[in-house]
This record gives sequence, C-alpha cells and structure tokens, in this order.
Amino acid sequence: MSDRAHHAGILWIISAPSGAGKTSLSRALVQETTALRTSVSFTTRAPRPGEIDGQDYHFISAEQFAGMAERGEFLEHALVHGNRYGTGESWVKKQLFSGVDCLLEIDWQGARLVRERLPEHVVSVFILPPSLAVLAERLRGRGQDSDEVIARRLAAAREELLHYDEFDYLVVNEEFQRALEDLRCVVRAEHLRRNRQQHEEHTRLRTLLA
Ligand code: 5GP
Repeated sequence: MSDRAHHAGILWIISAPSGAGKTSLSRALVQETTALRTSVSFTTRAPRPGEIDGQDYHFISAEQFAGMAERGEFLEHALVHGNRYGTGESWVKKQLFSGVDCLLEIDWQGARLVRERLPEHVVSVFILPPSLAVLAERLRGRGQDSDEVIARRLAAAREELLHYDEFDYLVVNEEFQRALEDLRCVVRAEHLRRNRQQHEEHTRLRTLLA
C-alpha cells in the first residue's frame, strides 16, 4: 500500500443482487458511522415513487449521461437492468483524499472497474440473500415494480450472485441486525489494519518506541 493510500479514506463497495437489502443496510451503517459518506450515483432510470433527485440518485437523461461519460466524469459506469448507472469521480476522490471513507452501492461490473482504477483504496463487501425464494419474496414485497421488471431482476440476481467471489467480504442478510453487526465488524477490522493504524497512531508508536 502506498503512502498516499495510508492517509486516504477507504473506498467501500457494497454489491448484492437486487432485493438482498443492500440499500437499507448501507443506510443504517452510514447513519451511525462518522466519516463515512455514500456516493449518490447518476442514472438514466426513471425515479420510483418516493425517490428524491440528488438524494437517492441524480436522475439524468441518456444524453446527459453520454456527455458525462464522454468527458470522463465517471469513476465507473455500467448498463444494469437496461439502464445506465455511474459513479461521479470528482466527489469520491475529494472525500477519499480528505481522509473520509466513501461508500459505493454499485453492481459487480462497477465494482470490478473501481477495483482496477483504485486498487489500494477499495474494500468490497457482497451481501447475500438467505435464499432465492426469500429474494423473490422481497422483490415482490417492495411493490414498486411490475411483474415483468421483477422477473428480469430475479434473472439478473443469479447473474450478480455468480460474482460473489470477486469480493473481500460476504455478509448474509437473513436477519437485518445481525447483518448490520457483521458490517460494523468489517469496518472496524479494516480500520484496525496495521498499515492504516501506522499512520493514525504515528505519534503513539514513536513515543512507545523511543
Ligand atoms: P436500482 O435501480 O434498483 O436502484 O439499482 C439497480 C442496480 O444498479 C443495483 O445493483 C445497484 O447496485 C446498481 N447501481 C446503482 N448505482 C450504480 C452505479 O453508480 N454504478 C454501477 N455500476 N451500478 C450501480
């Protein structure tokens, strides 16, 4: 790990098949964790009822998206379930290099690209649903999408699951509080890594070793 990476925040990637509970878990984690901020992605998908522009996503047109991609303003972008999604690069880098952890809720394609771009900064977590039956039930229970969309997402869930082994950590979301606790442990453990502590505890170490 380079010296630059020691000073920077951790770039957290959380991926999961649609309906595994990634968004609720991420929200709960961010709410209780200081110096951890979620990147708001850009998408060409239409807002679902209750979704707020600038909060859930930056909802933009296909033309705007193409323009941003052309200007190289995305850290990564991908086509997911027929819509385009992308992570804005400048905001993320600004957080990281001021020592703030950043959380990306993105798919496996985006995770792969970000790992390639910023390998020293990324820690990735894959959220597993307890079963496909539970996943289907959760997708139906959301009640915001048509049957056709749900069927497409279930097929896509299998595709997403195939990539679990590209991630550093696996968390099973069978019971919300347990899964949240697992995430807390992962965050804590990563911050306790010697190469990060070495920077944060520089003065203490110097005194101890004097
Ligand atoms: P949804 O439309 O249900 O909010 O998200 C659909 C999928 O798109 C999810 O798997 C989510 O992780 C992924 N996604 C959301 N934002 C981004 C992004 O900025 N980049 C990539 N690659 N995937 C994203």
